[in-house]
Amino acid sequence: MTETPEKVPYTTSNSGIPVESDEHSLTVGADGPILLQDHYLIEKMAQFNRERVPERVVHAKGAGAYGTFEVTNDVSQFTKADLFQPGKRTEMLARFSTVAGEQGSPDTWRDPRGFALKFYTEQGNYDLVGNNTPIFFVRDPSKFQDFIRSQKRRPDSGLRDHDMQWDFWTLSPESAHMVTWLMGDRGIPKSYRHMNGYSSHTYMWVNGGGERFWIKYHMKTDQGVDFLPQRTADELAGTDADVHRRDLYESIKSGNAPSWTMYVQVMPFEDAPDYRFNPFDLTKVWPHGDYPLIEVGRMTLDRNPEDYFIHIEQAAFEPSNLVPGIGPSPDKMLLGRLFSYPDTHRYRIGPNYAQLPPNRPRSQVRSYAKDGPMRYEPARVGAVYAPNSYGGPAADVQNFGDPAGWASAGEMVREAYKPHREDDDWGQPGTMVRQVLDDAARERLMSNVSGHLAQGVTRPVLDRAFQYWRNIDKELGDSIATRVNSA
Ligand code: NDP
Repeated sequence: MTETPEKVPYTTSNSGIPVESDEHSLTVGADGPILLQDHYLIEKMAQFNRERVPERVVHAKGAGAYGTFEVTNDVSQFTKADLFQPGKRTEMLARFSTVAGEQGSPDTWRDPRGFALKFYTEQGNYDLVGNNTPIFFVRDPSKFQDFIRSQKRRPDSGLRDHDMQWDFWTLSPESAHMVTWLMGDRGIPKSYRHMNGYSSHTYMWVNGGGERFWIKYHMKTDQGVDFLPQRTADELAGTDADVHRRDLYESIKSGNAPSWTMYVQVMPFEDAPDYRFNPFDLTKVWPHGDYPLIEVGRMTLDRNPEDYFIHIEQAAFEPSNLVPGIGPSPDKMLLGRLFSYPDTHRYRIGPNYAQLPPNRPRSQVRSYAKDGPMRYEPARVGAVYAPNSYGGPAADVQNFGDPAGWASAGEMVREAYKPHREDDDWGQPGTMVRQVLDDAARERLMSNVSGHLAQGVTRPVLDRAFQYWRNIDKELGDSIATRVNSA
């Protein structure tokens, strides 16, 4: 039996029973067979074999931290949501991630970044599950699975494949805005601290008088937006694949707490039908000139998780966690996500995921749900059905009966959004290329796209890609074609 040094507490099994050795399994003589009655050895092996929960199909690799959101401006005229009332401070959790790579993939691959926030409000958890992009590749959830498959691994070789990526993109012109964004500087942030977050979706806010507004969130980094050039990112992928996770952890550990200022764009409810762009189309922004940013508050991340797996790997964000004063919009991608996120959590972590430390609301839960694997919080509702005559909770129609909804009437159809005046797929990316990017940023965009296309993209996809870029900007498309054809 190994001697336990003085003052070090003794090891126990998972059931708290003192164990006899950290090093030696129980055998018949020193060279003999291992005995099945070595329960501790079996427990160690069995637990090890089950250490992983299935990784997320998207956003598998990430990093996160706890912090606080404080309101710095009075937006109560737009929403009655508890967390946005003047002077309010709310505890929160943030998780940042890459999208397409697996758990061990490099942090510096070109990819959008997830920007997921959970606010532990007095009226339950509010989750804002955004990206570091104000837009997305597709606008209908029916195309999401196809899009992701085109970005991940081929079934035959198990390899990622640029041909497959560009095949999908060029056959889906609605991707042009997001692809322009992705191939530009912001496609590889310098760190998670140096990127903005956006709701991307439009949401509804409802004020105390029941008045409704359409809104978009912008979380602007107080560290300043910064990026990695492709070459630096490629080097880091080989030398420090976890550089962004490390950066966030070490910044917070050293007391250098990163922060972001939250703004919203607010559109009066009745503007939506006649706005020049469809305000619910996830591939479009609302130009700042039309709807300026209004400050709301600041989030500061100052507490690392004490255990990465418990707090970040098991963190379950879901756009369906909407608190009173906030509702969904007719954005079809958002409506699809309202279903798919909780469904993922039920599969990946189990049906009682909401009871785990990062997901547990700080407000009291009085739900009629019961049982299921790994449940440990009692229901605390007296009777397990409603209505009941034993004092169980009853839904409060008086206070929470105003659905954050909109009128909807029509035939059931499978159709694209009805186009608004200026809706087309090439206009906004063209504006970005010509009016937002300076010459140097445009040159880097051209170089990034050409480099990407030169890696395994074959005809006719290549020719479609040249045309795709000419549609965004004729000059840029011509330069890309010349560069790739002469390579
Ligand atoms: P503005 O001139 O008011 O805003 C342009 C915005 O572009 C900036 O505020 C900045 O967003 C963002 N930006 C700057 N450099 C880059 C880059 N390399 N990659 C991606 N985004 C960058 O113009 P508008 O609001 O009229 O929009 C013009 C175009 O700007 C849009 O078509 C869209 O492509 C792009 N854009 C617009 C955003 C919006 O919500 N209106 C947000 C981001 C991009 P930020 O301030 O968020 O850092």
